[in-house]
Amino acid sequence: MDKAYIRGEVVPSEEAKISIASHSIQYGSTVFGGMRGYQKGEKFHLFRLEDHFDRLFKATKIFGMDIKMNFGEFQEAVFDLIRANKPEGDFYIRPFIYSDDEELTPKFIGINFDLAMYMIPLGDYLDTSRGLKLMVSSWKKFSDAAISTKAKAGGAYLNASLARSEAMRCGYDEALVMDDNWNIVEGSAENFLIVYRGEVIIPELGSAMLEGITIRTVIEILRMNGIEPRFEKIDRSMTYTADEVLLTGTGAQILFAESVDGREISKTSGKICELLRKNYDAIINNEHEKSKDWLTIVE
Ligand code: PMP
Repeated sequence: MDKAYIRGEVVPSEEAKISIASHSIQYGSTVFGGMRGYQKGEKFHLFRLEDHFDRLFKATKIFGMDIKMNFGEFQEAVFDLIRANKPEGDFYIRPFIYSDDEELTPKFIGINFDLAMYMIPLGDYLDTSRGLKLMVSSWKKFSDAAISTKAKAGGAYLNASLARSEAMRCGYDEALVMDDNWNIVEGSAENFLIVYRGEVIIPELGSAMLEGITIRTVIEILRMNGIEPRFEKIDRSMTYTADEVLLTGTGAQILFAESVDGREISKTSGKICELLRKNYDAIINNEHEKSKDWLTIVE
């Protein structure tokens, strides 16, 4: 995948460079997205492209980044990049809004922002064949009072990196992070839900969690199957005693926890995990009633 998109065109990746003195390098002032493309024969299925665009540009609105682009322009840039890269297999596209301005003051006013994108081949981001060993991190998720929790802001991922690194150092696969009130809100880069006394519980949207596109998909799959999730606070004890603990994300897709802080949850994937995986696979393979709404097919 040796082509990237920058300054309005597709160029060889080595030409997609920005200044070391740029606002984005120095202050982490980017907002980014992460989208998957699934190969199906000669075609590629992009999952919920318009929703990814919508979240990315809402993030620019939250920070007051001065950039305008409509969905048609964004989609065309994505198509150009995919066709230039001629992927073989599933891939991941990382679109992001950045500033190359060499501005010393950390501020958003008077700063120029632009779209750039690159692609990488991507199979499983985490191992889907087994359950994950999770750890509740000692690093808390920042609150929306500090940095927007609803935008994927580059600098804010220092927090995710701390949590994930701590978990890895302690021999776990992934971290769960708590908010200021000691409720578990998500993984380092995944949303989180539990099955508790037979009900599916998802943290409230107004908590510090990111509004993931996969968890939104999960909510719709559950409803289509007659299951109404509850949106509530989830504490540590509920997590330890849940029937299923699941993580969802574009990279991760749908994963189950084998254990949390050494408390066994389940050695095998549970009923809800299986239901979600079955539907998710059908959706991305264009074999589900929702596929037509959520897939963009690139020839
Ligand atoms: N939470 C965080 C902090 C994330 O980085 C991600 C990955 N984008 C998610 C949740 C899951 O979001 P999505 O399903 O849109 O990938």
